[in-house]
Amino acid sequence: MQFNDLCEYLVKLEDLSSRNEMTEILVELFSKLEGKEIDQAIYFMQGRIAPLYEPIEFNLSIKLVLKALEAHSSNNDIQALFKKLGDVGLVAEEVNKDSGLSKYSITSIFEHLNEIAEIEGTNSQSAKQTLLQELAQNTSGLELKYITRIIVGKLRLGLSDKTFLDALSWYLSGDKSLRAEIERAYGVNADLGYVARLVIEGGVEAIKDIHLTPGIPVASKLVQREATPQTLFERLGDCYIQPKYDGLRLQVHYDKNGLGEEKVSMSLLGAEKKTVKMFSRNMENLTYMMPDVIEQVELLGVESIIFDSEAIGFDPSSGELVSFQETISRKRKTGIIEAAKATPLKVFAFDILHINGRDLMQTGLEERLQILKEVVDSGKSENIEFAESVLVKSAEELDAKFKEYTDAGLEGLIAKDLGTLYEPGTRNYDWIKLKVKAQKELADTVDAVVLGYYSGRGVRAKFGIGALLIGCYDNKNDKYLSLAKLGTGIKDSDWPIFKKALDEISVDALAENVEIDKQVMPDVLVRPEIVVVVEADEVTVSKVHGYVGKDGLSLRFPRLKQFAREDKDPEQITTVEELEQLAKL
Ligand code: ATP
Repeated sequence: MQFNDLCEYLVKLEDLSSRNEMTEILVELFSKLEGKEIDQAIYFMQGRIAPLYEPIEFNLSIKLVLKALEAHSSNNDIQALFKKLGDVGLVAEEVNKDSGLSKYSITSIFEHLNEIAEIEGTNSQSAKQTLLQELAQNTSGLELKYITRIIVGKLRLGLSDKTFLDALSWYLSGDKSLRAEIERAYGVNADLGYVARLVIEGGVEAIKDIHLTPGIPVASKLVQREATPQTLFERLGDCYIQPKYDGLRLQVHYDKNGLGEEKVSMSLLGAEKKTVKMFSRNMENLTYMMPDVIEQVELLGVESIIFDSEAIGFDPSSGELVSFQETISRKRKTGIIEAAKATPLKVFAFDILHINGRDLMQTGLEERLQILKEVVDSGKSENIEFAESVLVKSAEELDAKFKEYTDAGLEGLIAKDLGTLYEPGTRNYDWIKLKVKAQKELADTVDAVVLGYYSGRGVRAKFGIGALLIGCYDNKNDKYLSLAKLGTGIKDSDWPIFKKALDEISVDALAENVEIDKQVMPDVLVRPEIVVVVEADEVTVSKVHGYVGKDGLSLRFPRLKQFAREDKDPEQITTVEELEQLAKL
């Protein structure tokens, strides 16, 4: 397919906010794509040139893209045009508005963009600009609009993974009936381009026995909640319990012979073939910040492995574990080696999905834990530990362990039902968390998304922001529903920081997938992108929150615990269903 034809679809998608209409457009597009164009078109629509979990960046700022446009165009006041239009894509479109259509196919644009991303080292910026300039000379305004937006990471078509998965089901069966099966495949292999190609080319048969591949992340298995050791034991009976470590979830992949990376040109990922990769809860590639863990994984002495774990920093002199904030302090661009030395990580391995070429997802919990223990015990990695796993046979034993863990300063425990399999991405009672809570508090914190903010009154007038409107997620209808006003738990010095972050994602009108009643409409609306962690006393019924005109849910005394939680995407926040469950605990 010609790249320009794909761009025509992008225009249509950009103008829509209804998920059903987007699905229809995608189904039509899928019927016209073939071969590797399928993967490439999917990555483009995700605003990228590789699967989401590959850390590939163009390293070309808006400023430099504008410079390249300036060098290419006869218009010498590109800066003024950018000020007026406020979007690099619109500037590019304007610059090339009189250019004819290009002859580029999707694949050739994909290769050109790869080339731009690949350039590294001294003078790389100007070499990248030159390549972009060449592309600008040979593309239409529409094509250049999307090319530049992809380069600066601002494509934003509003397409969620769910919409892609729905569209693949509609493509095959004309309805949503194959959605669960396709979603399962996507849980096992997080390369959406690859899954889409399998489905489009081979139908549902092609994904039936999709396998784990070391190097490609698996959707993390999620947990349910219970309020007390007694109710937990009533639900599960005999079960394994493990401490609930409060660190960073880390899915570790290793292959002695190097991890498969056929999706991305090798030079983009560095000359050496990687043997270890690590991913966060939402499949962000965290390998770059884990030099110490890479060494430890190599010391396990296995051929290949995928294991699930929680990583926590520790003080090398005392051996004591540090707080979550300190654990993630190494999450930065420079000084990682020093940070890793100052606060190395201890990795508590709590499950295993693959060992030496063998897929363990269909293996029961007890056997998985046994294999994991053997692997960790026979390896030489001091900082990888097998998470204590205790089989409890009564509510009293469970209660005693819970007390032991919480007295030791842990968050609580995770109970795991005997015989259960590792089902990627599922949240059910196979795994249940039990956390310490203060009296009158909800049994768990709530992850919400910011929908907007109110300009400050009184003492906060000077900040121009005085409270946030936060929302929860209705996953059945893919909608964000207003949940509560939040103004407590925020330091004065944080308000300006929050305002700046929110102003960057402000929008003029209420999007179709957001529900906010007039009575609580914030002064500034934002795209639902920033995830916050909130504590509250209770889930309450509300006349003004939830769906407009209906009773909805709200929170009593919400307090901010963390702004901008990065390991969760908006679609992974607390759902209406989970709030209803929390209300009952
Ligand atoms: P959720 O993952 O349920 O959406 P959350 O991200 O807010 O919730 P928590 O409430 O902390 O996380 O509970 C689940 C998380 O606990 C897991 O994602 C994992 O990072 C962590 N965890 C710690 N110890 C364990 C363990 N032994 N088994 C499984 N998960 C554990």
